[in-house]
Amino acid sequence: MLLHDHLDGGLRPATLVEMAAAIGYEGLPTKSPEEMGRRFVTEASGLDLVRYLQGFAHTVAVMQTAEALERVARECVQDLAEDGVVYAEVRFAPELHTEAGLRLEPVVESVLAGFGAGMDLARAAGRPIVVRALLTAMRTAARSLEIARLAVHYRDAGVAGFDVAGPEAGYPLVPHLEAFNLVQRESFHATVHAGEAFGLPSIWQALQLCRAERLGHGVRILDDITVHEDGGVTLGRLASYVRDCRVPLELCPTSNVHTRAVGNLAEHPIGLLRKLGFRATINTDNRLMSGVSLSSEMAGCAEVFGWGWAELKWLSINAMKSAFCDFDERLALINGVIKPGYDALTAEAAFRVSGPGTSAGPH
Ligand SMILES: [Zn+2]
Repeated sequence: MLLHDHLDGGLRPATLVEMAAAIGYEGLPTKSPEEMGRRFVTEASGLDLVRYLQGFAHTVAVMQTAEALERVARECVQDLAEDGVVYAEVRFAPELHTEAGLRLEPVVESVLAGFGAGMDLARAAGRPIVVRALLTAMRTAARSLEIARLAVHYRDAGVAGFDVAGPEAGYPLVPHLEAFNLVQRESFHATVHAGEAFGLPSIWQALQLCRAERLGHGVRILDDITVHEDGGVTLGRLASYVRDCRVPLELCPTSNVHTRAVGNLAEHPIGLLRKLGFRATINTDNRLMSGVSLSSEMAGCAEVFGWGWAELKWLSINAMKSAFCDFDERLALINGVIKPGYDALTAEAAFRVSGPGTSAGPH
């Protein structure tokens, strides 16, 4: 169960190196896939946001043709299925893939074709998975209305919703209001990157101006929560609203550590937000740049927060409840796959001395 994963943040290092060579892209610091994968993670964990974001220049540079987009999308689905994910919403910004002359529609259609091929291969390999696309508009650009229209246009072909991403500070959501209004008028779905590096005003805008259904990250909601010395907790108006209205938080622990939104994994608010009953979900954000998978994120959090299968099951069900696919589809996955999967793992763990171990199982 994965709600927040970027297509251009999850390439296989070998694919990146191969596609760069094929198009003569000279920007990569190395031609070795192993070294490439390591460099991304080392630079990311070097706590340098600018260098973290520079990684996207490489991945986006090689994702400019229909073939490249189709391949990256197909491999993404295969990798997620291999990791045990059964449902994922993977996002990308179509406007970043038009540098070589592709129009927005072929960009979207290539990715959707790749998702379809990946799902076929995963099913044939005995690891069925459903993957839907979210179309992202950039906060820093002025194409959000166009991207929202595009998302609505492809809603029956595999696009599940609309998103806005990019730097929050200095780029308010107000110029993108029309895009969110369109999504609402069409009874479609929207999430938005908000409350990642920037605080409560960004979350407020996302929810109360743009009426986004979910928060991408939303981790700064912590600024509206006071933990007292005696352990008591007071929620401010906005934090109360988020919890009362069950607004899903697409939390991405390792990514937040890498971009310095949070000091380290043990300090990540996902521990507290889960305890307080927020609609918390656990996500990867950028599997290549952060060197993570959904199961590694789950295992890392299970270790530092002392979680067992019960907590991971709760987070997985939270995510599935918050998905943008149809209610029937959500229910079928919760009751037919997620609950029985975790129940089997819990029964198995009851025979062991230790907890969930290092593999997090189905999501
Ligand atoms: Zn993100």
